[in-house]
Amino acid sequence: MNATESPRLTVIGTGYLGATHAICMAVLGFDVLGVDVDERKIAKLASGEVPFFEPGLPELLTKALESGRLRFTTSFEEAGKFGDVHFLCVGTPQRPGSDAADLTYVDAAVQALAPHLDRRVLVVGKSTVPVGTAQRLTGVLHELAPAGDEVELAWNPEFLREGFAVDDTMRPDRLVFGVASDWADERLRAAFQPILDIGTPVVRTDLATAELVKVAANSFLATKISYINAMAEVCEAVGADVSDLADSLALDDRIGGKFLRPGLGFGGGCLPKDIRAFAHRAEEIGVGQAVSFLREVDDINRRRRARTVDLVRELLGGQISGRRIAAWGAAFKPNSDDIRDAPALDVARTMHGLGGHVRVYDPAALDNARRAYPELRYGDNALDAAEDADVVVLLTEWADFREIEPDALAKVVRHKRIVDGRHALDPARWRAAGWEYRALGRA
Ligand code: NAD
Repeated sequence: MNATESPRLTVIGTGYLGATHAICMAVLGFDVLGVDVDERKIAKLASGEVPFFEPGLPELLTKALESGRLRFTTSFEEAGKFGDVHFLCVGTPQRPGSDAADLTYVDAAVQALAPHLDRRVLVVGKSTVPVGTAQRLTGVLHELAPAGDEVELAWNPEFLREGFAVDDTMRPDRLVFGVASDWADERLRAAFQPILDIGTPVVRTDLATAELVKVAANSFLATKISYINAMAEVCEAVGADVSDLADSLALDDRIGGKFLRPGLGFGGGCLPKDIRAFAHRAEEIGVGQAVSFLREVDDINRRRRARTVDLVRELLGGQISGRRIAAWGAAFKPNSDDIRDAPALDVARTMHGLGGHVRVYDPAALDNARRAYPELRYGDNALDAAEDADVVVLLTEWADFREIEPDALAKVVRHKRIVDGRHALDPARWRAAGWEYRALGRA
């Protein structure tokens, strides 16, 4: 096959990233095979069910399956036969007991695939990995693949946001192609042709830079969030208002308002583990000092969780034990059911550990939360969770919570006290309705 011909794609690892990528690529007209070691996940996807919450994705999965362009398998042999371009989308979580990234899944996927690569194909890493991984995996592929160094590796970091994953995949801000040859570049261009056709900018670079772009981007975003949360700490000390401060900064277009909302801080399956893995990797290669500020970014972020619990305690007159607490939110952010390192559940569990009677509600992540933390109690909806509550704590800024009327909530709670962990509510409105309102970084 010549390099510019439309390739057949495999997507290895069909979690949040891989399932979205496989489905979107099929909708864009490619023949796609999704591959995962999780048989239940593969069976669900093949039957038309997206195993996680992502707006717009179920409809596209149905469309892709009906088109006959999307199939799923657990067989790496089938993947090797089928694919011209193989996307690696497996997880790279934090290694237990360490800040480093756990590359077990990436290594296992490459080792399972390589023996079936008997012709010239391109393997494309999309997972977030420590810099240097691609170079190491290139060696593994050359050693294990029957086609030897005919098999090439490229890195194409992924920037999609859960909750906006379809749009971010179909219309990304940019594509980064880390390649070692013109052939790999041409193959990648062919694999993204419909996305290039809409004018998406491409940065062509080397493998190491492509790996770094992703962790650099996440480090920047995490730093911006922790920056405004550090300002919140200062505001609290002097009785200033971090919300007004953030609004004022946001009006400076050199700064901008995105990722500048003060509150409970970041979580999820990416930012926390990515900044830790980056700091760890930088130390390994002798440039730890260059990014040592990321440790501080992480610490500021963790302090916000503890401070939220303090605010609840203060509002309850110094005692959490025995008090009824409605925890609104479980997902690490709205429009997602992802509870990995979710600040909301961290706070809910801490308050539970302190003897609080915590009842959690989340519009999408309830099942995941129940499975992970059966010790917590759960409500059927926001008002149910708030029944007889001594305090309501907003922890994930779902629109559903913002839309609740202070008077409607007042009818179900025992005391009109609310902690707005996300600066999602209008304090004037809640106070006017007789509520005691508290938020981080606000007098
Ligand atoms: P995930 O846990 O949802 O999915 C990972 C999938 O890989 C799972 O379905 C798992 O069964 C599968 N898997 C594990 N080992 C495998 C193997 N040997 N062969 C085949 N499949 C295997 O993770 P995710 O959120 O989709 O993240 C994947 C990668 O993408 C991570 O590196 C992450 O940092 C990165 N990323 C994620 C996002 C996001 O928003 N979720 C955004 C950008 C980048």
